[in-house]
Amino acid sequence: FAALRVPQAVAFYDAASDPHRPERLSLMGDLRDAIERNEVVLHYQPKMSLREQAIDGAEALIRWQHPKLGFVPPDAFITLAEETGNIHRVTRWVLATAISQLQRWSSQGLNWHVAVNLSARDLHDLELPRRVAHLLTLHKVKVEQLRLEITESAVIGEPVIAIQVLRELADLGLRIAIDDFGVGQSSLAYLRKLPVHELKIDKMFVQGLATHADDRMIVRSIVELAHRLGYGVTAEGVEDAAALAYLTKIGCDHAQGHFLAPALDTDSFENFAIGFEVGATQ
Ligand code: C2E
Ligand code: MG
Ligand code: MG
Ligand code: MG
Repeated sequence: FAALRVPQAVAFYDAASDPHRPERLSLMGDLRDAIERNEVVLHYQPKMSLREQAIDGAEALIRWQHPKLGFVPPDAFITLAEETGNIHRVTRWVLATAISQLQRWSSQGLNWHVAVNLSARDLHDLELPRRVAHLLTLHKVKVEQLRLEITESAVIGEPVIAIQVLRELADLGLRIAIDDFGVGQSSLAYLRKLPVHELKIDKMFVQGLATHADDRMIVRSIVELAHRLGYGVTAEGVEDAAALAYLTKIGCDHAQGHFLAPALDTDSFENFAIGFEVGATQ
């Protein structure tokens, strides 16, 4: 069951030691039902504006509480959903859920932004821009409140279509971030061709800030590169006070990570974000 890669540090479903060894297809059947049975939820990881010293948004991260398998991490089932052609269904649900949450928050005067992750395959969906525009109108959500995260590998398979879809999304006014920047297939050549507004520095570099001088150098260079290209920059995987202090010092725009908070359910996110602002201004 190679597609179920489970991160070691996280608690949950371990395919290798699973006596039932579920088939891929049955797990995908489960995923379809899971959305209808409300086993899938979005959690929100706070994003801190380092200039404002406040939480001004969140990244939406999908969570699946499977009735038999327990917590199935997104890295595992998102990959499966991509391979089996079910990702569009998942993405549609994620977008609808995030956008209706944004509507609830704005009706309470809470103007946070929410960043949604898109998969590579989503950028082959020519209907996506129209669908997003429709959802925003339906829920009366301002386009600035929704953001999108993609990895550069999303553009490598079908660059012409992917770039067209991205352009249309950007033309709607959506802010687009390159996720996991600095690892994998990141290529500066692609970056120049993409309508991009933000880089998210991969946690691999951020986790080492306190202890590794070379990581500090890499992160500082990415922040500088982003700013020179006119992009914003977010560091993910901020796990200690030293990393947060360093990122603030070098002018990184946003920080996200377990030192601040993990992904939280909506109530916990609201409490955290509001409490954080109050705490910071006192
Ligand atoms: P990502 O978009 O790069 O999300 C960041 C991941 O890092 C999340 O893992 C988050 O919980 C984790 N993280 C945040 N802060 C820290 C930290 O300080 N330390 C460590 N060690 N980890 C931290 P998660 O939620 O397990 O998601 C993993 C990946 O699954 C995401 O990576 C994203 O690529 C994908 N994913 C999650 N939700 C969705 C979704 O709704 N749609 C799609 N297409 N992909 C999703
Ligand atoms: Mg992301
Ligand atoms: Mg990332
Ligand atoms: Mg990732």
